[in-house]
Amino acid sequence: MSMKKHLNFDALRQALSDLLYKAEDPRQASKVSYTFHDVIMSGFACMFLQCPSLMDFQRRMSGWFGRNNLQTQFKVKDTPENTAMRDGIDKVDSQIFAPLFKNYVTRLQRDNQLKQYQFLSGMYLLPLDGTEYFSSKDISCECCLHTPSRSGVITYSHKVVQAAIVHPGIKQVIPLMPEQICNTDGTVKQDCEINAAKRLMLKIKKSHPRMSFIRTGDSLYAHTPFIQETLAQGDHFLFAMQPGDHKSLTKILKEAVFSEHREIDAKGRKLTYEWIEQQPLTSDANSLLVNVMRCRMTTTNKKTQETTTTFIGTWITDLPINLDNIALLVSGARARWRIENECFNTLKNQGYQIDHNFGHGSKNLCFNFYILTLLAFFTQQIADLCDDAYQTGRKQMVTMKSFWQEVQVLFNRYLYESWYKLLEHLTYNTHTFIMPEPTG
Ligand SMILES: [Zn+2]
Repeated sequence: MSMKKHLNFDALRQALSDLLYKAEDPRQASKVSYTFHDVIMSGFACMFLQCPSLMDFQRRMSGWFGRNNLQTQFKVKDTPENTAMRDGIDKVDSQIFAPLFKNYVTRLQRDNQLKQYQFLSGMYLLPLDGTEYFSSKDISCECCLHTPSRSGVITYSHKVVQAAIVHPGIKQVIPLMPEQICNTDGTVKQDCEINAAKRLMLKIKKSHPRMSFIRTGDSLYAHTPFIQETLAQGDHFLFAMQPGDHKSLTKILKEAVFSEHREIDAKGRKLTYEWIEQQPLTSDANSLLVNVMRCRMTTTNKKTQETTTTFIGTWITDLPINLDNIALLVSGARARWRIENECFNTLKNQGYQIDHNFGHGSKNLCFNFYILTLLAFFTQQIADLCDDAYQTGRKQMVTMKSFWQEVQVLFNRYLYESWYKLLEHLTYNTHTFIMPEPTG
């Protein structure tokens, strides 16, 4: 059984421990009962196990065994109470986590796992997408966005712009440190997705100066200022365009003669690709010129022989388009859904439920829980890519949900020396847990 030295659970958990031991503790020293490491690591464990009441279970286990799984598997020396954990996480500056995302990407690079994500000669597809992960009319904090309704009722929300490295042929996504869409001190104007995306890309380019990206995104991104920044930073783009957002270009394309290429895919669907190069993005005399591609799919009903044509989309890009690469470029543009389907959907609906259960806080709690959830998701994506023990256990339990339910039961009931001992119990039903010392 292969065990990647730099990418197994213990190595990834250790990287978080190292970061926390080095970080400055933002709490008042006189009011602290638990170490900064133990407080944040416990939050990570809650997200990893997808269990809001983890601490209660583990404190009870300490009563039975004298220690618990937070100690053995997550190296938490003293299990904090929920309030101490939330209070500590609320005060942490979210940016302390940024180096960990970079650290994990570097580990993937070092172990040759990132190479398979290269889309075009050394370039990686990087979808950008905004998402809301908290919304309330009652609960708010100083970072909340405010949206007043017509009747004056304010909705408070938290949103981020998320970037992730994806590949059309690989299910796992590699998330990068997100950027919060939030009102910074002193600004009255509400922040927006595109400004947050600009800040995010500056940070990503700084963390990964040697990586070249093909940024993808919806038509919100397909405008001159963001495109110019993209090109100036040495990246490329594949953005969706919409008639409502691109009136001048849409009008030109109606009269234009496109090159065409047709293919039948593995499922027997007919795909029609069309493209045209060097078209003006806007009606300005000095408009940026972009290459345009579009795709539609025709399927035939086997019984009735009726055909249905579905329009897949229109995209703009700076990359040259030709007969040989059009299908690939369209698959790259369409892969931006992976961030929605694999990343956001998993975080919101597959047991993590990032906006529930864990409280809102008054400062950074909400965003920090999002980040810790994303880090837990990231470690699982890595395990899904290259951890045999995890994959074998995962397969045994058929669905993701039943796997995590089973893990939770074992984690809260039995004591194990390590995460891999728990996985062994789950996979082979061998009793790898530690028996309690006989008392009396
Ligand atoms: Zn808030």
